Amino acid sequence: MSLFPPVEACLSQAELIIDLGALRDNWRQLAARLAPAACAAVVKADAYGVGSDEASQALFNTGCRTFFVAHPSEGARVRGVVGADASIYVLNGLINGVGRLAPYATYALKPVLGSLDDVRVWSSSGLAGKVAAALHVDTGMNRLGLHVDEALALAPQAQALGLDLVMSHFVSSEAPGDTHNAEQIARFDAVRAAFAGLRASMANSSGLFLPQKPFYDLARPGYALYGGNPTPGAPNPMRPVVTLRAPVIQTREIGIGESVGYNAQWRAKRPTRLATIGVGYADGLPRSLMGTESHSGGDALVEGRRCPFVGRVSMDLTVIDVTDVPASVRPGAMVELLGEAITVDDVAARAGTIGYEILTNLGRRYARSYRS
Ligand SMILES: *Cc1c(COP(=O)(O)O)cnc(C)c1O
Repeated sequence: MSLFPPVEACLSQAELIIDLGALRDNWRQLAARLAPAACAAVVKADAYGVGSDEASQALFNTGCRTFFVAHPSEGARVRGVVGADASIYVLNGLINGVGRLAPYATYALKPVLGSLDDVRVWSSSGLAGKVAAALHVDTGMNRLGLHVDEALALAPQAQALGLDLVMSHFVSSEAPGDTHNAEQIARFDAVRAAFAGLRASMANSSGLFLPQKPFYDLARPGYALYGGNPTPGAPNPMRPVVTLRAPVIQTREIGIGESVGYNAQWRAKRPTRLATIGVGYADGLPRSLMGTESHSGGDALVEGRRCPFVGRVSMDLTVIDVTDVPASVRPGAMVELLGEAITVDDVAARAGTIGYEILTNLGRRYARSYRS
């Protein structure tokens, strides 16, 4: 036994609050939109950073019975949480999986076969028929999946392979006007007709909001469940799931012309009050949120007011300008970096990336708490 108390007792720094109630509402909203088609949940990458165990449990309790992950190890984890009564598909396929097939049987994971190689390995694995599998058809992404012609030729073997789902993935579903959407839907319709007995799945989060309603039998949202906006440029129909708060560690006053942080990337144009907060790029705050004179970076919400990042984001620390906050900001005060006001999509836009990357980079040092 250790002489020391558990380290969790020390994690009183930045806090990440995951609202499982919002996650469940988001799933219900999408499920209602889709009905009578079914709504799955994509919980790969630790459920987009929010925690695979907690998210899978909450979604299962809300009625979700189909989960998608990227890796068998992720699937095994989900199986441990949701029990036997759910389907878990592994998107990345078998990865030349000879010798690596055991987890599919042990955890009853359904591989998403994404190439003719995958199909060959699966058909000689002895598992085909014992565990069902999905077939991924490439309708334009050129990433994973069989060519449409390959898939059509395989249709007579659907039963021997134990297939129970045929799926494809959109290139640009977040852009409803993009011509790829209609082209992909037309190709997928042809595939689906050839695999008439199987369930079909095409839509990710944004696909659920396309005017063509490509719902088929099952949709696979991820991002929208976690509060990301599936309709960029229009109001976000989803509830935010993630709130990130960090403590002020120090405050200080600087004079005109003084600089802040590494390489002096920001200089004060007025007498300025600064607050140094205990979160940095090692916690998933992108360095591209740096604030300079010519480029505004990230913001933190302090006493209801947006305060800009000044200078570089460093590994464990970020400095904000709190001059305009009327109340005095003291060490220990918590500032909000993500939440209702500063959304994942906002932060991503300012950092020149997408909200998916912000979520999946959420740091490991936070004190995490789950609310329902
Ligand atoms: C990640 C992924 C999804 C989920 O996409 P979102 O845009 O997060 O909803 C669906 N399908 C496939 C194949 C994926 O890789």
